[in-house]
Amino acid sequence: MLKRELRLGDTVDDYCIRCRLITGHAVVTIVERKAGKVRCETCYFEHNFGHGGGARHQTSRVGKKDKEKERPLE
Ligand SMILES: [Zn+2]
Repeated sequence: MLKRELRLGDTVDDYCIRCRLITGHAVVTIVERKAGKVRCETCYFEHNFGHGGGARHQTSRVGKKDKEKERPLE
């Protein structure tokens, strides 16, 4: 199979540290035929590609914020 070459503006899936989700990212820069920087199409945050892989340390920090749960929005 022919592997399509990556181009600027292509959409790739990556982990967004802002959304904390795997989201579609537009390719902003290409380094050695791979995505360098990408921009989240949900929050437009730019970061280096590659968070979708093994960058999952410190997940234990995610705790429940009980104090904010019942606070009315103002
Ligand atoms: Zn995002």
